[in-house]
Amino acid sequence: MFYYKTTPTPTNSGCVVEWEFEVRDDDVLVATKFEHTLQGRRRQVEVVETAPTYFLGTCHRCRSIKRFAGYVTGGGWFRFPVETGKPLVGKHNITCSCGGTFQLRRIEGRYNPTKACDGRCMSAKGPQCECSCGGKNHGANWG
Ligand SMILES: [Zn+2]
Ligand SMILES: [Zn+2]
Repeated sequence: MFYYKTTPTPTNSGCVVEWEFEVRDDDVLVATKFEHTLQGRRRQVEVVETAPTYFLGTCHRCRSIKRFAGYVTGGGWFRFPVETGKPLVGKHNITCSCGGTFQLRRIEGRYNPTKACDGRCMSAKGPQCECSCGGKNHGANWG
């Protein structure tokens, strides 16, 4: 589905590293790490699969709320904004149409089969979710 490649970057140990990111049809992010040898050969050294997570962002200026998809990997997280098609790495600022900045909170879903998922979940303003959707629909009305 979506595909992105980093530029080859030399590391402290002297070898050149490159990552390829692909979002599969099931929304799982597949990150593949390649190393370039001194002979100019490229070999695959690591493959990491990450399921998507969701964030609720509140604009600090106009207070509008938006939901964003992202991928939490290792220490940081990657976000793949539809607008640019490029991953934003780390705690990146996302700009609102008003010029403000979205403060992101990761949606924490706790699966509770006895509590039906309804409009309260889908229009929630806070990141805490506990209902039958397990966080999947949380804040979905915010787009
Ligand atoms: Zn705003
Ligand atoms: Zn919810």
